[in-house]
Amino acid sequence: MSFEKLGLIKPLLSAIKELGYENPTTIQTRAIPLVLAKSDIFATAQTGTGKTAAFGLPILQKLRKVDPVEGRAVKAVILSPTRELSIQIFEDLGNYAKNMKVECAVLVGGKDIETQQKTLKKGVDIIIATPGRFLEHVERGLDVKSIEILVLDEADRMLDMGFTKDIRKVHPLLPKRHQTLLFSATYSDKVRKLSKLVLRSPAFIETSKKNSTVDTINQVAYLVDTARKAELLAYIIGSRNYPQVLVFTRTKVSANELFEELKKDGLKCGLIHGDITQPKRLKTLNLFKEGKTRVLVATDIASRGLDIEELPYVINYELPSVSEDYVHRVGRTGRAGREGEAISLIDIYEKYDIKDIERVIGQKIPQETVEGFEPDPTIRRKDQDELKLKSEHKKPSTKKARHYSKNTSGVVTKRTSKKRKTTKRDPR
Ligand code: AMP
Repeated sequence: MSFEKLGLIKPLLSAIKELGYENPTTIQTRAIPLVLAKSDIFATAQTGTGKTAAFGLPILQKLRKVDPVEGRAVKAVILSPTRELSIQIFEDLGNYAKNMKVECAVLVGGKDIETQQKTLKKGVDIIIATPGRFLEHVERGLDVKSIEILVLDEADRMLDMGFTKDIRKVHPLLPKRHQTLLFSATYSDKVRKLSKLVLRSPAFIETSKKNSTVDTINQVAYLVDTARKAELLAYIIGSRNYPQVLVFTRTKVSANELFEELKKDGLKCGLIHGDITQPKRLKTLNLFKEGKTRVLVATDIASRGLDIEELPYVINYELPSVSEDYVHRVGRTGRAGREGEAISLIDIYEKYDIKDIERVIGQKIPQETVEGFEPDPTIRRKDQDELKLKSEHKKPSTKKARHYSKNTSGVVTKRTSKKRKTTKRDPR
């Protein structure tokens, strides 16, 4: 299949040629004709499959006739869960639209709303926004009567992040006959429920097995004692000469502590999590993209929005508290057919969590040990629990405390043989 055969117009064909896209990916081949034919779609596709172009290219094509002289009106709204992802989509669309007159605006929280209003006044055709900020603009008078297309990108993530109410509010605000495109990495009950509410006779596109991880990713879990995780992490990065690696922690507290520890080990690091301001997150991300930092430590909240090209290594320093997040984390590597490696460092507690993840992804993750870092067989779960209790009474920055800090960060975790329950404020 070629982009020409999908019926894309010349300005778009030349833009994607410049980007080096030779052939459409599976999701693009299937979604582009459907979007052009005005069909609602429900697509399960992970980041890395080329889904942004799958909705971005046909939307731009549909808006090619915008006449700036007649005055612009917002024709399409793309809602995404995070600021980073919204900005990424905005940049991608800007690249695709470089030979066209279509204007895009990105409206995300953390940026001055009045400046955004000024941009809107000048006239835009496509808005890329986080749900809350989009609704704020509607309350301030943004005209939504001309909207023809609504995209819900990473819908599962938006629902997980508590945007359900906001998304439900958006749908009735739009003209009755608008087209809705829903993209989700997973096929959860919540997403299915939402799809029934917002989609009209949708075409279903499933580009990957339910919750399956990308085929080109090698996955491995290394068994290690909790207290030696940071040491093993630095050893892996150093001894294998990894040029760049994305490292995930479960909580902001452990991200902060790991970041400090790696810096002490002499590794150039960046840190991204929910408590870090937006300008700082972007700066950190850019430094990483430019290759100026070697390790990027991130929590799950930040993981979805990251689009980093050719990232071969992802390390789960701690497994995610929601098993489905494993898919999103490792989706950072092996993008667009490239090979990737996802390593999980698992301690005695996480042996249960990995089983849950294997059930979700429908794959077995091989468990190995690294020479010199084999778990101490005399440390049993009970001993680790005692160590954990002791460390919680010590000052939090000690090495052991870092690994046991999960419970001091506002998360209430209840360990059962299957799932960990997370309540109260989001620790990511
Ligand atoms: P996405 O899933 O939209 O985040 O895209 C993942 C990465 O694949 C991005 O870096 C895109 O620029 C790239 N990409 C998208 N479509 C193609 C294509 N047809 N050929 C090569 N790379 C692509």
